[in-house]
Amino acid sequence: TKIFEGKVVLMTGGSRGLGAATAEAFARQGADVAITYAASAEKAEAVVEALKAKGVRAIAIKSDQADLSSARPLIDKVIAEFGKLDILVNNAGIATQGQLVDDPNLDDEKYNRQWQVNVLGSIANTRAAAPRLSDGGRIIFIGSLLGSYVPFKGVADYAGTKAALIGYAKGIARDLGPRNITVNVLQPGAMPTDMNKDVAGELPPLDAFLDLHPIRRFATLEEVAEAVCFLAGPHAGYITGETINMAGGLGI
Ligand code: NDP
Repeated sequence: TKIFEGKVVLMTGGSRGLGAATAEAFARQGADVAITYAASAEKAEAVVEALKAKGVRAIAIKSDQADLSSARPLIDKVIAEFGKLDILVNNAGIATQGQLVDDPNLDDEKYNRQWQVNVLGSIANTRAAAPRLSDGGRIIFIGSLLGSYVPFKGVADYAGTKAALIGYAKGIARDLGPRNITVNVLQPGAMPTDMNKDVAGELPPLDAFLDLHPIRRFATLEEVAEAVCFLAGPHAGYITGETINMAGGLGI
């Protein structure tokens, strides 16, 4: 039997990258899935078609999480469509990197937007979802290994946004434990997505970066997606408030 049959998942940022791969992994195991996107309407629709082809219900909702007032309407739509919400995956995020903190031309607006999307947007979605999440439900934040370990320059704000999720997740794990809702942060290392292409010029040379990894390669999206599904699944009910690294040993 499929372990997520009868479960409803909200995957923020499901139009591309890890979110799309993880939405598909949930659907393969029977979940009904709502994905959000900010700009990529066509890609989001293509993901929805791929999900439906697996025999589950699926919708895409345009919801820019930089706009904090979009969070409650988002949760309303998911519940109007599917009747409930069991699993929230806070995956949507952006990477604004490359400038050092002592750069006099640091683009404040751009870097502040990253805090807005990665931290405040995820918190807004979580606050909107929490009172309505099923007992025994799951909240998973997609952090980054950089939230715990910062082996190169130019990523302070990105690392800071991901580190903020750790404390927040621990706090709400306390709040929601009485309802058997678990809350965890999964911290992937580098993955082959558009985000990595976007910041490629700002990272250290690839060979030197890979040399820091005992498992000397990027993660595959399937590996990370399956880890999210494990945390969301029935066997992970006693794991909460944790930050789990999945980075090929970078940072050990
Ligand atoms: P991508 O850039 O490939 O995809 C990002 C997704 O998030 C898209 O679906 C995008 O929607 C959505 N999104 C971006 N901004 C917003 C917004 N304001 N509101 C709603 N949705 C938004 O990213 P990845 O798949 O690589 O990253 C997924 C998560 O994993 C992120 O939290 C990232 O920080 C984290 N991560 C990534 C790593 C990597 O190496 N790639 C490493 C470690 C962590 P749209 O298509 O509409 O823009």
